Amino acid sequence: AKHLGGNTFQFFTDNLQACTVERLQLESQLRKGIELGQLEVFYQPKLSLADDSINSAEALVRWRRPELGLVPPSEFIGLAEETGLISQIGEFVLRTACQQAREWQRQGLADLRVSVNVSVHQLRNGNLVRLIRQVLDETGLPPRLLELELTENQLLDNVESVIAIFHQLRELGVKLAIDDFGTGYSSLSYLKRFPVDYVKIDQTFIRDLSVGGEDAAITRAIIAMAHSLGLKVVAEGVETQEQMDFLKAQHCDEIQGYLISRPVEMDVFVNLLKEQAAA
Ligand code: C2E
Ligand code: CA
Ligand code: CA
Ligand code: CA
Repeated sequence: AKHLGGNTFQFFTDNLQACTVERLQLESQLRKGIELGQLEVFYQPKLSLADDSINSAEALVRWRRPELGLVPPSEFIGLAEETGLISQIGEFVLRTACQQAREWQRQGLADLRVSVNVSVHQLRNGNLVRLIRQVLDETGLPPRLLELELTENQLLDNVESVIAIFHQLRELGVKLAIDDFGTGYSSLSYLKRFPVDYVKIDQTFIRDLSVGGEDAAITRAIIAMAHSLGLKVVAEGVETQEQMDFLKAQHCDEIQGYLISRPVEMDVFVNLLKEQAAA
């Protein structure tokens, strides 16, 4: 490193370069991982509180790396978003989840709705509607069994074009959900403008529900508002019986969280469905 005034600057550049190299490595490994079929789709059930049945599941991507094991999306989705690889990943997850849900239906296991996360990249690249139509065609999954989850924040710029895409998607018959609701900058009045079917209350509000107070009030308000607009409400991150009881008392429609099950690989999820069918 240089002496004197150059020190700090040099330190930051070295650091930055190290980061850049690491990121480039990770990017090429991820590219290769995708080619080699190392991505997998896990499923996390959602429980319908009206009849305590699993009626839906969220598809969540995992990267199974030889030697390193299972890598969670938090470690590569950000990079995938920045590099555009997210479109490829999203398409893989969509196709896999639709094939799977169609298979469960065919086997008479369940008429299960499957939800897939859509990134802002996919929303804005102009291909989304065509891709969804194509995958539904290919797999034969009834559109009402596919749900797309979009986070609140990614809907907020270019609102008009997002709304137009949403209308096209709804014409196909698929369901739409606003994910991580309550964390963004939108107001509840946004709910009225977006043609969606579900609102997913972010887990940060659910976490402290048992303590009562503000988060309970916010949760109650979101449920009431969504219902008055004819939307269904899903609460995510439900870990305790107390949280479930509270949500049931507030007429929340569905819950998702470790209390019911962690996201699990396909075989394990199928066993969950079989247990339910047998019960
Ligand atoms: P998300 O869409 O908000 O998904 C919910 C996350 O909460 C999942 O993390 C899930 O494992 C976790 N979770 C579920 N129940 C509980 C609980 O009771 N307690 C706690 N503490 N956590 C719970 P995961 O699978 O690590 O995914 C993280 C994020 O990565 C997702 O957040 C989503 O934004 C993104 N992601 C995952 N798969 C995909 C994908 O295929 N495409 C895109 N674009 N993003 C994805
Ligand atoms: Ca989600
Ligand atoms: Ca979420
Ligand atoms: Ca999230």
